[in-house]
Amino acid sequence: MVSDYLTTLIMSNRSKSKRLLIVLMLTLSGFIIFIWHTKQNSHDDQPKSNQNLQSHLERLEQFSKEYNQKSNDLRSTTQQKPPRAISWSSPLSKQCSDIDQRLKKNLNRRQKLLATERNNEAIDSSNYGKRYRWDIYGRRIDPTPSVVILHETTDSYHSALYTFKDYHHKDEDQASYHTLITLDGRIIDVVDPINRAYGAGNSAFLGEWVVTNPRFNGSVNNFALHVSLETPWDGRNGYLNHSGYSDNQYDSLALVLADWMDRFNIPPENITTHQHVDLAGERSDPRSFDWSNLQRRLAAIGYLCLSRNPSD
Ligand SMILES: [Zn+2]
Repeated sequence: MVSDYLTTLIMSNRSKSKRLLIVLMLTLSGFIIFIWHTKQNSHDDQPKSNQNLQSHLERLEQFSKEYNQKSNDLRSTTQQKPPRAISWSSPLSKQCSDIDQRLKKNLNRRQKLLATERNNEAIDSSNYGKRYRWDIYGRRIDPTPSVVILHETTDSYHSALYTFKDYHHKDEDQASYHTLITLDGRIIDVVDPINRAYGAGNSAFLGEWVVTNPRFNGSVNNFALHVSLETPWDGRNGYLNHSGYSDNQYDSLALVLADWMDRFNIPPENITTHQHVDLAGERSDPRSFDWSNLQRRLAAIGYLCLSRNPSD
């Protein structure tokens, strides 16, 4: 009825301006009715709306916190510039002659029995981890071990094992080597080489490191193998030098290195020290290390004669 009346009214008015005025009035009335209806509904649903608003605010606050955390992480990681490349001149040199035949015989004999000679000690899983395939910048990285880091325990091997068997919840307290070599030459495997031992903190080799934690500088751990020699009694005091390592330790070290060089195709020039890779300037191990002892042994079992450089 009402719509018929309005239609008649609109059509009866010949004046264009009057028709326009009526249409405008109808539109305005409709708008006012719509607003009134909406307000009425929102009044009825007020408790529910308040809950929704509270939930939205909480989520917004959570997003804001996460965003700030990610921004801080990103800021701290982008501040980490790649390390300066410090050249490494390996004390080991190519040697195909002047082989010590007594050493050769002894080491070849032991090399055949090496698998049965090695001991395994399980340590707490907080002190080692998987090798990463991606760094924190999203770059793909090669987790294959390519460098060997020589260490010394600075205390007894028992003390080192005790530390590694302990649970450490803080990243900065977690530590391990892949292998320990006791004063009498026993080889104790602690972390499987396919895993990442935490042998070095802030460190790099030839300008290479891997950043796996936004809270810390990079380290060589992701592509390193760590072997540690038990420190002799007169070296457990923090002095710069000590009496050095036993012949049995050098024998075992040469055999462990030969095994890793075979398994991972590591060249002799990539055998280095913790002192060399340490970027904090705090490490000096292995102190009193005699490279000529290692040279003679690796040469005796043929690991310094093979050239891994085709142009050499
Ligand atoms: Zn060390």
